[in-house]
Amino acid sequence: MFELWKEALIEFKDAYFFTSGPTAGSRESRRIVGDYTLIGDDIRTAKRQDDVVVLGAWRIDKHPQGESGYHNMPIVPPYDISYRTLLPQGIENLWVAGRCHSATSEALASSRVTANAMGMGQAAGTAAAISLAHDGHSRNVSIGELQDRLVAANVILDSASAMEGLPLEKLGTEAGDDHWK
Ligand SMILES: Cc1cc2nc3c(=O)[nH]c(=O)nc-3n(C[C@H](O)[C@H](O)[C@H](O)COP(=O)(O)OP(=O)(O)OC[C@H]3O[C@@H](n4cnc5c(N)ncnc54)[C@H](O)[C@@H]3O)c2cc1C
Repeated sequence: MFELWKEALIEFKDAYFFTSGPTAGSRESRRIVGDYTLIGDDIRTAKRQDDVVVLGAWRIDKHPQGESGYHNMPIVPPYDISYRTLLPQGIENLWVAGRCHSATSEALASSRVTANAMGMGQAAGTAAAISLAHDGHSRNVSIGELQDRLVAANVILDSASAMEGLPLEKLGTEAGDDHWK
């Protein structure tokens, strides 16, 4: 690609190759089947979850296979990522956060982004700490206590307050990167 740019684009005439990423990045790979699986409609409709631990907000950023360039990314409202998406079915005492959490391919196109992955990691770590102080079981963690601790650490779980001041008329429409600014 670099050689092509040098040939075809005048701006790259004097450019030289220095370095590139050591490996190709993959947006999507294996993930768990959890007690709950986040789906695209949960995001589009901002389905509320009693055990919300992260408020996601990125658009459904589904890159097309086999081609590059712009793809449709309708704006979505802040949506709930459930604690249960971090719990793999049939395994106790294991939390799975980030792009391996339980989500369909479509939903993961939103939930996998870095801020959400960080939020899931924070929730999983906090839940693990709570569980250690009790009986050590991931499914016996008090959701109220988990949410209280996250909020005390300045995590925003209240979608209504998160939506204050946002241009709600833009929901479901296409927009550039300044959509929520
Ligand atoms: C090309 C590309 C562009 C992207 N652009 C954006 C963007 O603009 N904005 C955005 O928000 N998100 C973007 N993302 C998505 C985002 O970067 C990832 O979804 C996110 O980083 C996932 O976080 P994670 O913690 O789940 O996994 P990762 O960030 O993949 O972290 C997993 C870590 O575990 C380590 N690891 C793996 N196996 C082992 C092992 N056996 N022992 C110890 N360590 C291990 C890995 O080395 C890695 O450091 C992009 C992703 C790609 C691939």
